Amino acid sequence: MEHRTKLAAIGPEFSRMICGYWRLMEWDMTPQQLLTFIEQHVELGITTADHADIYGGYQCEAAFGQALRLKPALRQQMQLVSKCGIATKADPKNHIGHYITDREYIIAQAEKSLTNLHTDNLDLLLIHRPDPLMDADDVAEAFTSLHQSGKVKHFGVSNFTPTQFTLLQSRLPFALVTNQVEISPTHQPAILDGTLDQCQQLRIKPMAWSCLGGGSLFKDPQFQALRDELTAVAQEIGAENIEQVVYVWIMRLPSQPLPIIGSGRIERVKSALKALDLDMNRQQWFRIRKAALGYDVP
Ligand code: NAP
Repeated sequence: MEHRTKLAAIGPEFSRMICGYWRLMEWDMTPQQLLTFIEQHVELGITTADHADIYGGYQCEAAFGQALRLKPALRQQMQLVSKCGIATKADPKNHIGHYITDREYIIAQAEKSLTNLHTDNLDLLLIHRPDPLMDADDVAEAFTSLHQSGKVKHFGVSNFTPTQFTLLQSRLPFALVTNQVEISPTHQPAILDGTLDQCQQLRIKPMAWSCLGGGSLFKDPQFQALRDELTAVAQEIGAENIEQVVYVWIMRLPSQPLPIIGSGRIERVKSALKALDLDMNRQQWFRIRKAALGYDVP
């Protein structure tokens, strides 16, 4: 499988697999250690990094930016993704967690991400979650303004239903390039609820988050049958571990999702990449589906 891909006809070119930085503050790295991690995954070919303004209680992007400051030239070799639209109680101004997609807020958060990430522009900005109070015209104005000022090159959404996606798209002068959604054997709704059908229809590639169930794949007793089947398929397709099988299972989907790797351990990132050289047949794919869901196809 190719190691790079375009998200959409007029869209950014990303690495086929992406490093996700949600858990960065848990990794407890010094800026130098983080720089080394970034350099290593870029060297391996994973040039795309997924962020959001709220990650790590609003701290992850600044920590990443601090590492980038140690080697600013690295930015030119990378694609940076951020998201906004969730407000959490980590910011003392917020008495309750809520969504916010007002024009001024989106622009202000994108600008904050630029400062924190130590960059002049984002390759991609996503609305993090659908907001029941979203005025699509307002979001479209914010996106258009960020686009015109050169601060954001491309736009997309995350966790949107197809109708929410279509609504926002209807107000925009350019195409949304992705819907970043949860895709995993442990969580399969997007496969059947129309979300991935829409991506295939529009020829845009989804980004897949929590491919390993956020780590629950390895320990949750309810996934024992799934682990057993993944182990069996691993032997059949020459995979070294069950996570490689999961990545193959996700990338086998015709909408061609880009898996976001959630680990801060370079050996796990390196292992994930081996999935690009593996494949599985239809029956192996359905065995994994069945083992996860607990029932056969009707
Ligand atoms: P994930 O890959 O499902 O889970 C990562 C977790 O699994 C880490 O704690 C990791 O621990 C653990 N893990 C990985 N391999 C393991 C193994 N062999 N044995 C035991 N544990 C293992 O992904 P995620 O972190 O939940 O999500 C990935 C990215 O998706 C995030 O960083 C973020 O960028 C994005 N995301 C987006 C949304 C959204 O709403 N758009 C939501 C959630 C996440 P180690 O660190 O120890 O390897």
